[in-house]
Amino acid sequence: MKLQAYTHLAFITFVLVACSEYYSENDFYSVKKYDAHMHIRTSHDAIPDQAEADRFLMINVSVAHSDSSLRAQEQFTLNQLAAHPNRIRYITAFSMEEWDSADWEEHTINHLKASFENGALGIKIWKNVGMVEKDSTGNFIMIDDLRFDRVIQFVIDQNKTVLGHLGEPRNCWLPLEQMTVNNDREYFKTHPEFHMYLHPECPSYEEQINARDRFLARHPEMRFVGAHLGSLEYDVDSLAKRLDRFPNMAVDMSERICHLQYQSNTNRERVRNFMIKYQDRLIYGSDLGMQPTSDPDQARARLHKR
Ligand SMILES: [Zn+2]
Repeated sequence: MKLQAYTHLAFITFVLVACSEYYSENDFYSVKKYDAHMHIRTSHDAIPDQAEADRFLMINVSVAHSDSSLRAQEQFTLNQLAAHPNRIRYITAFSMEEWDSADWEEHTINHLKASFENGALGIKIWKNVGMVEKDSTGNFIMIDDLRFDRVIQFVIDQNKTVLGHLGEPRNCWLPLEQMTVNNDREYFKTHPEFHMYLHPECPSYEEQINARDRFLARHPEMRFVGAHLGSLEYDVDSLAKRLDRFPNMAVDMSERICHLQYQSNTNRERVRNFMIKYQDRLIYGSDLGMQPTSDPDQARARLHKR
């Protein structure tokens, strides 16, 4: 009798836990969600309206293409913030154009200060650092360059976050036909300028990752989010090692969920255990958005589908 009662109690506990701890597809509209990696470059309402319908809070991310592009992106973001204050947050970026001038650090800090006053949650560092930008002596500027220190310290002192898209997926250093996922194959087919297999004069995959790790080691108090699974998308064990070594590091999964799926094809349990163990360090992001020339209905449909 006693045993039966315990069994019964255990069953009730199981049912309660099962109901309260796990979401299902049916909960989609009742759960608040974040999309932490978006690029909305228009003042149109289509994307915020879809986010409202799907119950997403979005983080719009600026990318350091050029000075003029940065200013335009920031203005679109400020327009969106004013129109949808409960739907949008943003992350600013900074230009590398004046790197060789003596006041680059001060100029950059002033720009970041203004963005933080406008509500930016942090800064994005893009892959142009490590892959495109060179100093006056012709060397690639890597993220562990000491010249970033003052700027990064300012970000830390302001209690802001660094989002780093540093390096690329390991596939980027392989020929198209050897890449593991179609997503990378299609991207590098249309962006040969970033397909590092075609540019052996540029730093290697390992050099990108090592520079990033040295950068993290030098700023242990920096809150860092590695965009795109921190460019360690090919192996959850390698990523786990970094998450263990750097407690203030998290990663977003934008554009790299296919790599988790790819690994789970051969070892589902390994990927599942990784995602359970590091669930608080894995951030959802779609990497979608909208341009001034985009069709609003298509942009909405694409976002909802993803
Ligand atoms: Zn992006």
